[in-house]
Amino acid sequence: MEVRRTVPVKPDVDSDDAALLRETVGEFLWAANYVVDHAWQGAYKTTSKAQLQEETYDEVREQTRLHANLVQNARNKAADAVQSAVARWKQNKYAGKPHFSTPTVVYDKRCATFHDESVSLATVDGRIDINYVLPDADRDTPHSRYLDNDAYEVTGAELHHKHDEWFLHLRTKAEVESDMPEQATTEHSTVLGVDLGVNHLAVTSTGVFWSGHEFDHWRREYEKRRASLQRCGSRHAHENIQSVGRKETGRFTMMLHRIANGIIEEAVEAGCTVIAFENLTGIRDQLSGPSWGHKWVFERLYEYVAYKAEPRGIAVEQVDPENTSRRCSHCGFTHPDNRDGEDFECLNCGYENHADYNAAKNIGLRYLHRNQTGDGGGAPVGVRLNRGMVNANGEYEPPAGNSGQSGSPRESPTLSEANGEAVSE
Ligand SMILES: [Zn+2]
Repeated sequence: MEVRRTVPVKPDVDSDDAALLRETVGEFLWAANYVVDHAWQGAYKTTSKAQLQEETYDEVREQTRLHANLVQNARNKAADAVQSAVARWKQNKYAGKPHFSTPTVVYDKRCATFHDESVSLATVDGRIDINYVLPDADRDTPHSRYLDNDAYEVTGAELHHKHDEWFLHLRTKAEVESDMPEQATTEHSTVLGVDLGVNHLAVTSTGVFWSGHEFDHWRREYEKRRASLQRCGSRHAHENIQSVGRKETGRFTMMLHRIANGIIEEAVEAGCTVIAFENLTGIRDQLSGPSWGHKWVFERLYEYVAYKAEPRGIAVEQVDPENTSRRCSHCGFTHPDNRDGEDFECLNCGYENHADYNAAKNIGLRYLHRNQTGDGGGAPVGVRLNRGMVNANGEYEPPAGNSGQSGSPRESPTLSEANGEAVSE
């Protein structure tokens, strides 16, 4: 069987290379957006890669300095995005016109050459050679497992530029003997589901809760201070209001870094390679009332987790949020009455748990389902719970060593008021 792994590496980019890569990213995104614009014209959206190639290739070559294969990769990226929008329409779901702004370039072996410790990348002005910043070879890292392993071949890469840092996500594949122990092929394919909410800012499928009380308390507090300064109305007061704003942002930023670190720790400890969140646009739609603060909090938290996860080799993904709070993570029955505030009790099977924890499990499961119906390459196998794991069919596997236990799944978390405390029985 074929096994695929993505290995993040840090390229050692000097300032000249960085300037070239930035221009390459800019033209690559321009090309992808140009193809989307073209595909989107008229009532019928063009999804055929061959047709889009025929209709856009010459113009994109003319307007950019991109290598021919980068033009094709941009066209593929555009075609895939248009295809998934059309697929959503077929399921009666909303999808707007795709637009690419995240700085990314897709490389394959025709526009990049992958060596053991370096890579040669096509740019808008010829090729550049870049060394990898590699970790200690003796440590057990994705590098030592897949890059230093002759069985794995690098097939392509995505270049990312984030917070002024460059990353390469190398795609690798290997032919693995089918009698290889199951453990070896699945150990790096586990999902941590994370539910974001108002009462608890974040809840993981492993049962860790981060309360929203601290955030609510300080937001009210800063609101009061601002209101009392507002009543003074002088220029001095205006400056003080701004300083309150800076303090507020600073406090919340620190709080969110702490939560993000906790989520990463949780994923690392549970051996997860993917952290799944709800799509943030969906979360925003669910919130009513004065929710600007929460929107800001969720966006920052997602950003921090994604930023911190990258160098750890953990992918951060978003899933469709529809019904994650109404669906029973045990039997799949979906009904608004399953949920009553913080309590979840399934009307079909009687499964009871904290509503946010049930949602976190659903988010992990949704990621599994989505990827199992995809191309199947490296499909993840389980959602990590605080005890054991649940697979895509909702079947519960107790943790190793606990298999002698009988009775119902012991995965219910007990709530702890302490922020970020891992909960167990
Ligand atoms: Zn149920």
